[in-house]
Amino acid sequence: MKLAVVTGAARGIGLATTELFLDDGWLVAMVDRDSEELARASAGRANVIAIDADVSIPEQVEQLARDLEAEHGQVDALVNNAGVADFGPMEGTSFERWRRVMETNLDGVFLMTQALTPMLKAARGAIVNIASISGLRASTLRVAYGTSKAGVMHLTQQQAVELGEFGVRANCVCPGPVATKLAMAVHSQEIIDAYHDAIPLNRYGSEREIGEVIAFLCSARASYVTGQVIAVDGGFESTGIGLPALRT
Ligand code: NAD
Repeated sequence: MKLAVVTGAARGIGLATTELFLDDGWLVAMVDRDSEELARASAGRANVIAIDADVSIPEQVEQLARDLEAEHGQVDALVNNAGVADFGPMEGTSFERWRRVMETNLDGVFLMTQALTPMLKAARGAIVNIASISGLRASTLRVAYGTSKAGVMHLTQQQAVELGEFGVRANCVCPGPVATKLAMAVHSQEIIDAYHDAIPLNRYGSEREIGEVIAFLCSARASYVTGQVIAVDGGFESTGIGLPALRT
């Protein structure tokens, strides 16, 4: 049975991705630091391993890698999905807030991938990192979040280039808005309405729509795809000069 490690799997996009892997017959290691939510999300499911760990803490990442190595020896897919959002103006973003975002969104992707690389090599596996449209386009209030996600996009390319000769692929998915707990904490009704207006498909995406692309990139059907950044955003990234005044 193939093993997928999904971080931030207790809810939202990570949980939807877990369910898609399970539907496809994979074993899934669900990693999350929210113990209660993780226990709820993993309860009663076959073929899951719940791992209570914080991806931004090197010792916890090393421990989970040792445990997976001892139990399974190889990892077929790593989905670096755990993320936090904290929106605020540059002048109001203290170093602590900056670090809090960076340590999960960017350090976590680096640490998890580094720790699992021997097992990914053993499986000639796949990595999918979750960035955001905020990494593709700058905006106000996203100095830390947007910069962390732009870093994830480049880190993906570094991983693809360095690990390609070992048969390991690395790709990046940039979701548009999805109504998860993370997004709803920072999206007011005004922001929701503005997104609907600006996105060509005129709506938010669902967790499952993001998960489908992640699952595809981890599958053998994407065996010649690596180093790519793919927006799953209802067309938002392609709108260019998106002035309402230019619409017919
Ligand atoms: P969510 O808040 O619903 O779920 C995130 C999960 O990650 C939570 O269960 C949380 O406990 C876990 N987590 C956070 N930090 C962690 C850490 N350091 N270690 C272990 N677990 C940790 O969020 P979501 O919307 O499903 O987001 C998933 C990913 O998608 C994130 O990387 C996010 O930045 C990205 N994303 C989301 C949206 C959106 O609109 N929802 C848009 C673009 C990108």
